[in-house]
Amino acid sequence: MNDSTLPSRPWFKYIFSGLTVFLLLLAAMGSYVAVRFWSHSASAALVWALPAFVFFLMALLPAIFYLCLKLNVRNGFFYFAQRYCVRLYFPLILFLGERLRIDKELLVKELVQYNNKYVIKRHGNTLAPQDLLILLPHCLQVRDCDYRVTTDIGRCVGCGRCSIHHFVRIGKEYGVNICTATGGTLARRIIREQRPRAIVAVACSRDLYSGLSDTFPLPVVGVFNQLHHGPCIDTSVDTSAVEGAVRQLLQKNYV
Ligand code: SF4
Repeated sequence: MNDSTLPSRPWFKYIFSGLTVFLLLLAAMGSYVAVRFWSHSASAALVWALPAFVFFLMALLPAIFYLCLKLNVRNGFFYFAQRYCVRLYFPLILFLGERLRIDKELLVKELVQYNNKYVIKRHGNTLAPQDLLILLPHCLQVRDCDYRVTTDIGRCVGCGRCSIHHFVRIGKEYGVNICTATGGTLARRIIREQRPRAIVAVACSRDLYSGLSDTFPLPVVGVFNQLHHGPCIDTSVDTSAVEGAVRQLLQKNYV
């Protein structure tokens, strides 16, 4: 959501396109060899045809996913292709990106950026406040604060030393639920108990990526926190980005 944190080059998109074209080429080559072999030996032809078919499917599903997104088509093919991309294709792209020495954090930020656009486009102005959950990492609270907000953000007395007091205000103003979690297990428990229809989640790139995969197909808008003092210590976040996402998701009569 915060444009200043976005990568300057769309590496994720480059790898997505490159990998899809590469798989199609492999499929075409395998099919060509299979056809050439067919008149001599059917079994030899099959040895080439089967992997060609698998490569073709591997490339076809992301292409379907991309086209459906662009054409705003939502059907069974789209959801199947989406599941395939989230579970297999995107992790493969991140893996290849790492092998190509592209910063994984940049790739994840780009992926989250696409995800956010999709979630806002699909679910924008459709939610009531009780359907929305803002999930925060506990490290947004400064270490030496005496008021533990992990169980109840309302304990914050608003001294202004960290971002938490902004979220107290956002919670009151929009009526949305706000929880802080000390880790993935607690976050999953909160989601299970509250059963939101959508989440605005603040996290570092690593946690946000695993969170998006874990909670799929639940729509999640991700906002990165800033790690000025290293991971998990006194982090901060652009609260206007979180508030912007909330305003975009809520029905118009609530904002
Ligand atoms: S703003 Fe709230 S949570 Fe943050 S340090 Fe002050 S009292 Fe603690």
